Amino acid sequence: MIFTHIVMDGDAIGSAAALCLAMRKEGIDAYVVTEDELAKNLSFLGKDLCIDVAEAEKMFSDGHDISVCVDCSEESRFPKRAALFNNGAVKVCIDHHKTADTICDYNYVDPEAGATAQLIYKLIKAMGTEIDKDMAVRIYAGIATDTGNFQYSNTTKETHQIVSELYDICDSFHEVSVEIYENEPFAKLKLQSEIFDGAELFAGGKAVIASVTQDMLKRCGAVMDDSEGTVSRLRALENVEVAALLRENEDGSIKASLRAKTYADVSELCASHGGGGHAKAAGFTEYGNPEKIRETLKKEIEEKIIG
Ligand code: 5GP
Ligand code: MN
Ligand code: MN
Repeated sequence: MIFTHIVMDGDAIGSAAALCLAMRKEGIDAYVVTEDELAKNLSFLGKDLCIDVAEAEKMFSDGHDISVCVDCSEESRFPKRAALFNNGAVKVCIDHHKTADTICDYNYVDPEAGATAQLIYKLIKAMGTEIDKDMAVRIYAGIATDTGNFQYSNTTKETHQIVSELYDICDSFHEVSVEIYENEPFAKLKLQSEIFDGAELFAGGKAVIASVTQDMLKRCGAVMDDSEGTVSRLRALENVEVAALLRENEDGSIKASLRAKTYADVSELCASHGGGGHAKAAGFTEYGNPEKIRETLKKEIEEKIIG
């Protein structure tokens, strides 16, 4: 059983799906176990591979051999599947997040990797499994999305090397890019314009913050996934070093997404709120009054990060 983090991004599902396909090719009865829905533009990556917790429990009522978590290494990243994950006779972690302690027997963790999909690529090669087009597409999707299309600071020579090798397997990834990036519902545009309308510069213009509420989603006929990409867009503003986006979940909790541009590290601040991530992209989830969370976060960014 392959697990990845909730609110799956392209790297999460791309890595999980590619590994699942490779395991199946080796005759292993493998599945990606999920607890939430894939975003519409990413759903093609998980097709015919994903099962939910109830299905997994039914299909493997006598237990399962291996649990693998990819693109995450903490139970809090797959809360409703933690028990199922721990039921695996052997536990394996493949990840590119820095984590203090491990919950697995075997770990392939490289915080220098631009995407977990890069590690999956190297792993499948090491397994001696021939990478086919379906795997290549999923590995490409993971790398492209986690590196901001080869633009973020996590993009390296190895990132490009791996992708160039993927071109030996698949002539073009243009269709994948269209599927992921040029397939946006009109409601997303409307939602983004509302989000940007409420954006606020602070810390002398070096930081920016914006929020998404359930009311905004209703007004625009949008879903929370439609706010994806807005925090990177905010970071692109001139003079801005740190961008923050606060999303109000259905249960009232607030999901914060932070991004840094060049010198700042947002991972520690997020860790101090029970979250985590990378220096340039991190997040946390918290319960409380939305205005208060926003004000506290602004103060902390200004005092602890911008200084
Ligand atoms: P995003 O802001 O896009 O949700 O996440 C950015 C990065 O931070 C990703 O690498 C993601 O895995 C990580 N991240 C976001 N939220 C959390 C969280 O609550 N806990 C941990 N450990 N990492 C998070
Ligand atoms: Mn991820
Ligand atoms: Mn990742």
